[in-house]
Amino acid sequence: MIKKSLITGGAGFIGSHLARRLLEAGHEVTVMDNLFTGTKANIYDLMDNPRFTFILHDVTQPFWGQFDEVYNLACPASPIHYQRNPVETIKTSFLGMMNVLELALKTKARVFHTSTSEIYGDPQVHPQPESYWGNVNTVGLRSCYDEGKRAAETLCADYAREYNVDVRVIRIFNTYGPHMHPQDGRVISNFIMQALKNKPITLYGTGEQTRSFQYVDDLVKAILLFMALDTKRVKDFFAQKEMGLPVLNVGNPGEYTIKQLAEETLRQLPESRSQIIFQPLPKDDPKRRKPDIALAQELLGWTPEIPLREGLAHTIDYFRGVARK
Ligand code: NAD
Ligand code: UDP
Repeated sequence: MIKKSLITGGAGFIGSHLARRLLEAGHEVTVMDNLFTGTKANIYDLMDNPRFTFILHDVTQPFWGQFDEVYNLACPASPIHYQRNPVETIKTSFLGMMNVLELALKTKARVFHTSTSEIYGDPQVHPQPESYWGNVNTVGLRSCYDEGKRAAETLCADYAREYNVDVRVIRIFNTYGPHMHPQDGRVISNFIMQALKNKPITLYGTGEQTRSFQYVDDLVKAILLFMALDTKRVKDFFAQKEMGLPVLNVGNPGEYTIKQLAEETLRQLPESRSQIIFQPLPKDDPKRRKPDIALAQELLGWTPEIPLREGLAHTIDYFRGVARK
């Protein structure tokens, strides 16, 4: 039987990769997106596939359909996008999640949700395991995203506990690759576009803050492995760990300072005339971030395979095409 999959936010960066992989695996794929940060250009190559459907819809409005699985990705993900309309961001996180879970409850669909390392805030535990509760400002500029995602996790846990909805959550750590929005302000797209256009490389703060960067193919692999597990296996695994929600950190534990990232980008683009300049660090910018991925390794037998150097090279190739347009 062909599996029917719905991806909310499927015209975005990660969603378009996921849609492609699900189609390759033989699924019937419906992408629902309001194109706030996503674009049809990300999914043009899928439009002619008879197993692919695109629906223009805002996830804050209820929706209906019979699907075997729903992947909930709809939410702006970069700080400049999610801070543009913060009320809309928290609404998208909470109401979108609620609408997905209501649909799953009525149709018995399996749910996958994209949570984030941002739920750990500016972490005081390093690296961050799933058991860490986080250090989050409730009223800062990043709160609309962080708290929206935290509330979405709470909804997932309660729908699982109260109504037995089969829901699986991944806390994604900084992910990059082709089809990132070139103007989304995230560090990898910014540095590559700046270097390609010979503009200054904008290093915020001293550049000593760290992130762990995961190539998108590694993430999509983990999502597919997680969703392929049967319900009992997932329930038993997380019950044995005494966790209230099936949630896994997924990221690449290789940790780099942002200064190292700027230097590596310039090393891979030796023709660039860009120079590094320093700009103020945005408020509430986390100082360190690195996933503890032991649980994902144990449950999925998964480990990220693509190092920063290689993933950056693929991403630069993609952005060369974008910069020429
Ligand atoms: P993205 O901005 O490229 O994709 C988000 C998609 O959601 C876009 O296509 C956008 O148009 C759509 N969308 C936004 N609001 C919507 C609404 N109200 N109704 C319907 N569609 C809506 O971002 P991404 O990097 O692909 O992120 C996908 C998901 O993964 C997001 O939920 C994000 O929070 C999560 N995530 C991403 C990262 C990362 O590093 N990329 C890290 C942690 C979590
Ligand atoms: N950053 C930077 N220059 C930029 C964009 C971002 O130095 O042009 C820094 C930012 O301050 C943060 C890190 O890079 O410390 C990652 O930023 P991004 O917005 O990509 O992700 P997030 O902060 O959400 O992890």
